[in-house]
Amino acid sequence: MASDHVDVLIVGAGLSGIGAAVHLRRNCPEKTYAVLEARGAIGGTWDLFRYPGIRSDSDMYTLGYSFKPWTDPKAIADGDSIREYVRDTAREHDVERHIRFHHRVVRAEWDSAIARWTVHAHRDDTGEEVVLTCAFLFTCSGYYRYDEGYTPEFPGVDRYAGQLVHPQHWPDDLDYAGKRVVVIGSGATAVTLVPAMAERAAHVTMLQRSPTYVISLPSRDVLADALRRWLPAKAAYPVVRWKNVLLGVANFQLSRCAPGVVRKLLRRAAKGRLPVGYDIDRHFSPRYNPWDQRLCVVPDGDLFAAVRAGRAAVVTDTIDTFTEHGVRLTSGEELPADVVVTATGLNLLALGGMILAVDGREVDLAQTVAYKGMMLSGVPNFAMTIGYTNASWTLKADLVATYVCRLLRHLDATGQEIVTPVAPAAGELAPIIDLKSGYVLRAVDQLPKQGATTPWRLHQNYPRDVLLMRHGRLTDSGVRFSHAGAPTDDSPADPTLRGARPPADTPVA
Ligand SMILES: Cc1cc2nc3c(=O)[nH]c(=O)nc-3n(C[C@H](O)[C@H](O)[C@H](O)COP(=O)(O)OP(=O)(O)OC[C@H]3O[C@@H](n4cnc5c(N)ncnc54)[C@H](O)[C@@H]3O)c2cc1C
Repeated sequence: MASDHVDVLIVGAGLSGIGAAVHLRRNCPEKTYAVLEARGAIGGTWDLFRYPGIRSDSDMYTLGYSFKPWTDPKAIADGDSIREYVRDTAREHDVERHIRFHHRVVRAEWDSAIARWTVHAHRDDTGEEVVLTCAFLFTCSGYYRYDEGYTPEFPGVDRYAGQLVHPQHWPDDLDYAGKRVVVIGSGATAVTLVPAMAERAAHVTMLQRSPTYVISLPSRDVLADALRRWLPAKAAYPVVRWKNVLLGVANFQLSRCAPGVVRKLLRRAAKGRLPVGYDIDRHFSPRYNPWDQRLCVVPDGDLFAAVRAGRAAVVTDTIDTFTEHGVRLTSGEELPADVVVTATGLNLLALGGMILAVDGREVDLAQTVAYKGMMLSGVPNFAMTIGYTNASWTLKADLVATYVCRLLRHLDATGQEIVTPVAPAAGELAPIIDLKSGYVLRAVDQLPKQGATTPWRLHQNYPRDVLLMRHGRLTDSGVRFSHAGAPTDDSPADPTLRGARPPADTPVA
């Protein structure tokens, strides 16, 4: 059993983990760190998903890192390009040699007496158990299970003789050329798969239980294309990034204030891209308001174009049963299929499935409250990365990493060792993820909560978070700073841990 110590332990070598390591190198170069990654590769989501057409659904000027301009002319980028971008970042910033692959973190135990985490990882390649210690634990483990996507139980599925595939486990050798394909689902993955598969399949049907808002955006950014001719990438990138941030905020706020108006605009935009007489209300007009679930982006209207060309169709109905040759619907209609793709979603998983314990007591995540959307009440020297639900993930990931560096420097400057959020005394608590999508609702009971006011409330607003996290105070009533071994505070009992208590408050400079 190997054992060693680092100042900061990052869990996950995806977009967030690599970004976190770069921020750490740049802002706290004296800190030692390691990245533990369960898989054998860098890239997380962008390495795992290999289905046809895999791409971002937000623009790369905001999904890219603040410190590394996105220079590819495609604003909506394919999975391979994003994976290369993350790998290039790791290489350019010398992060690669700090990554320990095939290390799946299963448990982390905090000891207030010595202000250290003891982290247990399982090596999936050798079967070995590895133990490391660190002063600060920074999880960048994404938000869903890697080993298994979500597939509902479909009646009769056992008798289906065709090929059944989940997008999370796409077979390398799946040949769907000239075949009839049914894609079950209506989310980002389904709307990506349908036009991509329609290029080679005989026909693709998107079978959805209920519609989703689908919006067409240009795959290239006009402003970025123009600026690229005149300005170096480093100067053009923040301009385009902020333009897209502000457009996104305006779009979201308008959806919240005037959902009826946005609903009409989206319907009109879809109508203009679909054949005359198409039943938009049935297939593209959801019952919920825009942004109650994420909008689905289709670059240059590719989904609509495939429907218009007759290469793809949308069917809104429920499955009665699978048959030997396809799917029979409640309406009685049969959809023959050689291949059925279950684009039915993800299984949410907090903190990559790892268990946290503080001073001998296990943390019940559902009882914790997230401080600034990135630390957990009652859990010392810990941060996690959860991106925005209404904007690009990396915008928040960058802010979280910047904030962790500020905290680490503050601890050093003030001679403290421990920082612990303390749950708000009063106020309503709400789920940390405020979407009503199925994958969120299925797991919402197991996730941390958010509070009613700052710093416990998640505003899902990047400009506001820039002020809060890049420039705002590090010391407020929501956190306590202390030394190793300081006596624990007996009152009030922190409701966020089963019996564990946060370290005592000590004056901060
Ligand atoms: C198909 C798809 C498309 C998406 N498109 C967009 C988009 O366009 N825009 C957007 O903003 N967001 C999008 N997202 C959300 C997306 O996950 C984020 O953009 C981003 O990739 C998250 O990066 P991450 O590093 O935080 O998490 P991940 O990409 O999930 O990476 C997490 C890493 O942590 C590792 N890990 C997990 N648990 C452990 C453990 N216990 N021990 C060690 N290692 C562990 C994993 O192996 C993985 O490498 C998409 C998600 C999916 C599934």
